[in-house]
Amino acid sequence: MKKITGLAGAGGSELAQAVVLNRQKVTPHKTTVQNSESEVERFRQIQREYAEELDELYQSALADTGEKTAEIFKAYRVIVCDELFFKRPIQTVMEERIGIDYAIEQEKQAVCSRFEVMEDPYMKERASDIRNVCDELIRRLNGLKNTEEQIQSIREPFILVAEDLSPEDTVRIDKTYLRGFITEKGGITSHTVILAKSLGIPAVVGAGKILSSVITGQRLYINGNEGYGISEPDEDFVLSFRREREQQQERKKQYEAVLTEPAVTLNGRRVAVCINSGDAESRRNFCDGFCDGIGLFRTEFLFMDQRACPNEELQFAVYKETAEKAHGKEVIIRTLDIGGDKKLGYMNIPQENNPFLGYRAIRICLDQPKIFLTQLRAILRASAFGNLKIMFPMIVTAEELRKSREMVEKAKAELRAEGIAFNEKIPLGIMIETPASVLISDKLAKEADFFSIGTNDLIQYTTATDRMNEKVQYLYDPCNLSVLRAIHQVIQNAHKAGIPVGMCGEAASDARLTPLLLAMGLDEFSVAPAQLGRIKYLIRRCDTDKLTDWVNDVLESDSIDEVKQRLASEALD
Ligand code: PEP
Ligand code: MG
Repeated sequence: MKKITGLAGAGGSELAQAVVLNRQKVTPHKTTVQNSESEVERFRQIQREYAEELDELYQSALADTGEKTAEIFKAYRVIVCDELFFKRPIQTVMEERIGIDYAIEQEKQAVCSRFEVMEDPYMKERASDIRNVCDELIRRLNGLKNTEEQIQSIREPFILVAEDLSPEDTVRIDKTYLRGFITEKGGITSHTVILAKSLGIPAVVGAGKILSSVITGQRLYINGNEGYGISEPDEDFVLSFRREREQQQERKKQYEAVLTEPAVTLNGRRVAVCINSGDAESRRNFCDGFCDGIGLFRTEFLFMDQRACPNEELQFAVYKETAEKAHGKEVIIRTLDIGGDKKLGYMNIPQENNPFLGYRAIRICLDQPKIFLTQLRAILRASAFGNLKIMFPMIVTAEELRKSREMVEKAKAELRAEGIAFNEKIPLGIMIETPASVLISDKLAKEADFFSIGTNDLIQYTTATDRMNEKVQYLYDPCNLSVLRAIHQVIQNAHKAGIPVGMCGEAASDARLTPLLLAMGLDEFSVAPAQLGRIKYLIRRCDTDKLTDWVNDVLESDSIDEVKQRLASEALD
């Protein structure tokens, strides 16, 4: 029994056999071949197969998630079939009788090193595509199976163990028996996490050296709520997991039963329960029937799906479609929140020592007004088709909010001049996700139309704990008194100024905190779609009238453990 620590990617727990994805990289050696022509024919065969597979992947991604996600496969196919690119390797094989894999590797390095020094982000991105395609061809030429083949033959539930998963992998994987993921790399917005959340299965990411600690066929337990795995758990553990699983199934039925009900506490307080959305999968699956709208629309996914900043028309189409699908319920569109752990290759953001403290989110938007204005125009135009609100991320000063407002006014003026319809009264809110914004929340509340507490960042900034660093994960805990007091302060200041306050960080779906957040007066919970039923169920079991003194007790706790004990005394589940 061995514990592997990682990051909580997608919630839930599972026990199944491990399947380790063999992604070993092949470094081709210079070998002499007997027959150059059959070596080239061998390449042609693999080239054809790979091109056909990419065609299929393109079609299935197109049907699943739309053109923008599928585009990558088209781009890969162009490279695979690029006769100009393979001309020199083939010539070398014919003239020098060396292995085609080595010749391709040489060409890859020569071309990529030329592209990678170029300023143009598009060329840099192309270099990365060429690398991926060549590496896959080399792997195949060396008889290594592709992802799909490694998984296809499995006919029983499994947990996928991998270094990382590319978008290509996530489309290829047959999901029939897939029960969860655990990966060495990847952050909380990785493709792995997005896929896991949409499938409603757990994912643990950033799990250090898992590839060397787990082998295929071993029994593996993963816990995506707390971010860890256990290889070869003992019988006692397995038994308790099975008991827990039975209870979970029972509860799941109870959660599903309240999905279409409103979230009203026992003492009659109606709160909003919304979903977090933004990635292609959740956009496609969005249905307003089970929720009060979208409390956080992460627009960065739209930017990540592209090879350059999406233009106004494309953004407008996505925001408009979402607004219409919400049928008048609110949709809070958060402006671009890139930087930190969310990279965007084509934006060429320089490497920084402290990316979470650096050039990110609203700082980038205010610094690059063209990108900001394009997005604001697109949101405003879409506001004519539904109940849209705009939210700015990572605000730390009132000046940032004012400057952002000015940009909205500028976008509005442009649209007015062009005679384009939009909602003149579109509400403008901010994320509260830094201690700075908490400390001036009384001031900010006078200038913002609403707040949404982003606990994912708030915890890390308040406790000075990098959420990607496993060594300090014990501090990255929403039950830290500092975090709870910050949340309390923000809710009080918002209400004093008469504005509503929601929470869209993961703590909004942390069942331990639900009674506390309700009793503090939180107006809106915005959670992953798979959490909707559970949160509604909890809210409907809570009587906040009884909890006033208890809130004060929790906020006077002397340790994280004491906070947890007090929270446990009012647990709703
Ligand atoms: C947060 O920080 O809680 C949040 C919702 O934003 P992000 O996209 O950074 O997780
Ligand atoms: Mg954040």
